[in-house]
Amino acid sequence: MQVLENEPMRAHTSFKVGGPARFFVKAESKDDLKSALSLAREKGLPYFILGNGTNLLVSDKGYEGVVISLAGEFSEIVDLGGGKFKVGAATPLGRFARHTLKQGYAGIHKLAGIPGTMGGAIYMNAGAYGQEVGGCCTTVTTLDSDGNIRELTTAQCGFGYRQSIFSKCAGNDKASEIILAATFQLQDASSLGLTATDLEAELAECMAKRKATQPLNMPNAGSTFKRLDAGAAATPAQVAPGYYIEQAGLKGYRIGGAEVSTLHANFIVNANNATAQDIKSLSEYVQSKVAEKFGIKLHREIILLGEFE
Ligand SMILES: Cc1cc2nc3c(=O)[nH]c(=O)nc-3n(C[C@H](O)[C@H](O)[C@H](O)COP(=O)(O)OP(=O)(O)OC[C@H]3O[C@@H](n4cnc5c(N)ncnc54)[C@H](O)[C@@H]3O)c2cc1C
Repeated sequence: MQVLENEPMRAHTSFKVGGPARFFVKAESKDDLKSALSLAREKGLPYFILGNGTNLLVSDKGYEGVVISLAGEFSEIVDLGGGKFKVGAATPLGRFARHTLKQGYAGIHKLAGIPGTMGGAIYMNAGAYGQEVGGCCTTVTTLDSDGNIRELTTAQCGFGYRQSIFSKCAGNDKASEIILAATFQLQDASSLGLTATDLEAELAECMAKRKATQPLNMPNAGSTFKRLDAGAAATPAQVAPGYYIEQAGLKGYRIGGAEVSTLHANFIVNANNATAQDIKSLSEYVQSKVAEKFGIKLHREIILLGEFE
């Protein structure tokens, strides 16, 4: 097991910001994971399970705890036949989505452009273009805080819009249960009158939309705020935080090196050596301006780790 001390978290987050983690452990097996949890217990420190750091803002002061990054046996995809797959938590979601697509299975293929891991995707119930991981996930295997391996059904996972039982139970900086793997039941494309080539074309369309609408050339962590719950009568514009942020005149607004993207108002980008505090302050400024102008409360989608002002 590899244990690093004072590892800069900017190297592990898509925002490219964040101070040192007191300990940073790469856990390649269940034994490594148990040792990492023992290390946290021995040192009297909290722990945090890191995915690919693509929905995460780590404080400039860092994290006084043990960051655990899963790898090795947690990166496996097992093909169980008939559109059933078991996927390790460290597997990149994009790799799994493309793997299923190549075999002609539908259900998750439009999510190939989401840059997270399976663990992060289950935790957030990541989704896009009408698909969500929770939609075709059948079970999730976890390690609970007492060291027991549990198998949760979809119903027990409590998937909702960008949330799950894991995110609902967690504090702001600690995963309640460690997601080890998930199983999926996908649909044979032919049963939908589609071919693998059709699925490829659907994915290509989604990827082109991402490229055209998202600031992919600058460090960011995806949508800053969650879609609004505006009720059944809502139009797409009424539920999109970016609509209100743009109407409030905030596109291009900067605090320090952080900027409200000029391409997509619901993205904050690290435009010029931003600090984590710049990004947090900018997100709060946006919340206050949108509340002032429209009486709407925006809820942050991005997760904060460590101490901020
Ligand atoms: C350019 C860009 C585009 C994006 N587009 C989308 C999109 O279309 N849809 C969407 O939903 N999201 C999108 N995101 C956000 C992000 O990629 C997703 O939320 C993703 O699921 C986060 O996964 P991660 O592995 O990076 O998790 P991290 O950011 O590392 O962690 C997120 C949370 O998950 C927890 N977690 C991670 N792994 C585990 C585990 N094994 N056990 C327990 N808890 C765990 C962490 O503790 C943390 O609380 C985008 C991000 C970027 C940068």
